[in-house]
Amino acid sequence: MALIVQKYGGSSVADAGKIKNVAQRIAATRDEGKQVVVVVSAMGDTTNYLIGKALEITDRPDLREFDALLSTGEQMSMALLAMALKNMGYEAISLSGAQAGIRTDATYSQARILAVESKRVVRELEKGNIGIVAGFQGITDEMDITTLGRGGSDTTAVALSASLGAEICQIYTDVEGVYTADPRLVPEAQKLAEIGYDEMLEMASYGAGVMHNRAVELGALFNIPILVASSFTQSPGTLIHGGASMEVRNKVRGIAHDLDVAKVTMVGVPDRPGISAAIFQPLARAGVSVDTIVQNASIDNITDLTFTVAKSDLTKAMEVVEPIAKSIGARECVSDSRLGKISIIGTGMQNTPGYAARMFGALSELDINIQLITTSEIRITCIISDTEVKKAVRALHRALELEIPE
Ligand code: ADP
Ligand code: ASP
Ligand code: MG
Repeated sequence: MALIVQKYGGSSVADAGKIKNVAQRIAATRDEGKQVVVVVSAMGDTTNYLIGKALEITDRPDLREFDALLSTGEQMSMALLAMALKNMGYEAISLSGAQAGIRTDATYSQARILAVESKRVVRELEKGNIGIVAGFQGITDEMDITTLGRGGSDTTAVALSASLGAEICQIYTDVEGVYTADPRLVPEAQKLAEIGYDEMLEMASYGAGVMHNRAVELGALFNIPILVASSFTQSPGTLIHGGASMEVRNKVRGIAHDLDVAKVTMVGVPDRPGISAAIFQPLARAGVSVDTIVQNASIDNITDLTFTVAKSDLTKAMEVVEPIAKSIGARECVSDSRLGKISIIGTGMQNTPGYAARMFGALSELDINIQLITTSEIRITCIISDTEVKKAVRALHRALELEIPE
């Protein structure tokens, strides 16, 4: 029997009425004769509520206990949804991440899935049950509960799809698909009918929160078609896939933005072998994930080195690099936590010159100062003041004519 994995996000299960709506949609899929595994997120703002509770106790919660707490949000949803389905006369069973065999490493709050041991899920499907799995969580070899990073339920869904050999992974959310930019910020943003894994991965990694980036990575690795669609309408949604796209009119498929950027600059760094390793190895050991790194050309063997991190990692990053700066004889370390980034993304840009110039032109018309620039083959990113990101996204969307349907 064909198997479908469906994932419902927090706003789709925010209250009892919405959980019952989701149960109806799952029942309709079951009635089509499909086996169904459902992944659920925590109800509405529950994860933020739980984080708030931890911060009422301490501003540096123990990470193991933090994950044990956060995982309870998804467990609430799974039980309520299973109850709703049973109440409608369907056979359903809820399973925590551990029960569903989601094995992870022990990096609390940012754990990576190492394997999915889906024997239990398969057994339940064979018994005729709809499996309702708590997203966002897994279990270590020591049987400790971990979480996968904010938005991680998408990754649970794609990992289960790969392990179970699902025909498709359907991600149901509060928008009708993947748009050319966040539709809450740019009302004229266009829904994309389809997008490749590579473009979607850059979108997700550079701030398009509609998909967890690790979920897209796993989708590409195991070639799982992923449909992003609304849990409230029957609109067809966006298919994320690995097939070649037809030539599209707009070479830029989308604009992503991220308001969570902080910058550290080490000024007056002696330019000699081993310096970068001396700085970035301790940062990695401290669990600080570094994004952009820029080193200036040196004058008289002295250079400046800048890197960016998430705002929440800035204090930790400064605690690590300040003593290093002293020990290697750098002049000082300065930081700025009020930054954001804006990115244009599209595989078509590879063979078409002039996109960087158009992007910089649009930002300069708004008098926006570009602090750092990074690129990949299919992306150009500018780091700018966080207060200017939103107007920059709207202006760039217009400048690149993304409001015109493809
Ligand atoms: P869920 O709780 O269902 O996982 P999320 O809040 O994680 O939902 O993701 C959906 C949100 O992603 C939308 O409400 C939208 O504001 C945001 N978003 C950001 N960029 C995009 C984009 N390019 N296309 C669609 N939605 C986007
Ligand atoms: N509930 C978690 C979060 O809010 C995971 C998810 O929704 O995907 O980040
Ligand atoms: Mg999400």
